[in-house]
Amino acid sequence: MGEFDLIARYFKRPVRQAALGVGDDCALLQPAPGTQLAISCDMLVQGRHFFADTDPRQLGHKSLAVNLSDLAACGAKPLAFTLALALPEVKEPWLAAFAQGLFALADAHGCELIGGDTTAGPLNICITVFGEVPVVNGTSLALLRSGARAGDDLYVSGTLGDARLALDAMQGKLTVPDAVLAAARERLQRPTPRVALGLALRGIASAAIDVSDGLIGDLGHILESSRVGATVLADQAVACVAGHAHAAQSTDAAGLHLSQEQWRSLALCGGDDYELLFTAPPSQRAAVAAAARASQTPVRCLGQIEAAAGLRLLDAQGQALPNHYASFDHFA
Ligand code: ADP
Ligand code: MG
Repeated sequence: MGEFDLIARYFKRPVRQAALGVGDDCALLQPAPGTQLAISCDMLVQGRHFFADTDPRQLGHKSLAVNLSDLAACGAKPLAFTLALALPEVKEPWLAAFAQGLFALADAHGCELIGGDTTAGPLNICITVFGEVPVVNGTSLALLRSGARAGDDLYVSGTLGDARLALDAMQGKLTVPDAVLAAARERLQRPTPRVALGLALRGIASAAIDVSDGLIGDLGHILESSRVGATVLADQAVACVAGHAHAAQSTDAAGLHLSQEQWRSLALCGGDDYELLFTAPPSQRAAVAAAARASQTPVRCLGQIEAAAGLRLLDAQGQALPNHYASFDHFA
């Protein structure tokens, strides 16, 4: 099968909303009047972001999910995406499963594939997504990293550390009971982009980012862009891990015999969570709760934004914890 047959068979579908889709030198998008395009690109490299034997269906899902997560963090509505694909060889069952996982998520978000590039090479998947953000009275409603203010509450959606728990277990660093591992693997391999929450937080959240490199590191980006500091209740973050309320009994019940330090490390620097970390002024507490309900996404308050620069971690008793938690960095 040649390059163009491959594209036609697996990636060309009837155009829906785009002005022009796959098949010409460019695709054409017509943004609605009074909107901005939000654009983001993420690459997944075999051996770096996923194992060679990863289920192609899940890989198709995840490749798009990590990109939709960036749109979610900006409060952008997904419109379309492009797919640049390097494949070592043409394996049709692999391609069929990859396309299935990809399009299932794309269709769930009304996001259409409008173009891409296909080449032979080490397996590499690069997606660019395009989303839409309204501009009201000349002001963009995009959620940015730079909008956090002293006094804002700090929130995170969903659960943290699950993907890292799965990864550590798959690499033999931790022993995790089967039921917990299955749930954690699902979070690693089929993350849920929090698109509905991001849209619901427009006009409510003051700043937002998606947690891809770990809570501490990604919060650091908000603090730096917004020129503020924060206090984080470390054990509030731990309560998110593996979806279990963190209490000695429940963790034992789950069969996870982790030290407090291991729990904190999972929650604070886990990575690959694709949850939304965001800030909002206290006057918006009811609105944040309503946005969480409307988007059916659990949200938890983790602490406060402060004028004093830097990140302070507190334990459940309000005692300061040393912050030696580092986030993921490909070149560190
Ligand atoms: P060009 O060489 O002009 O860039 P290509 O021959 O690479 O065009 O691609 C032909 C058409 O197929 C283009 O419209 C391109 O966007 C599309 N395309 C190529 N690869 C993919 C892919 N993996 N998924 C979707 N569309 C693709
Ligand atoms: Mg090309």
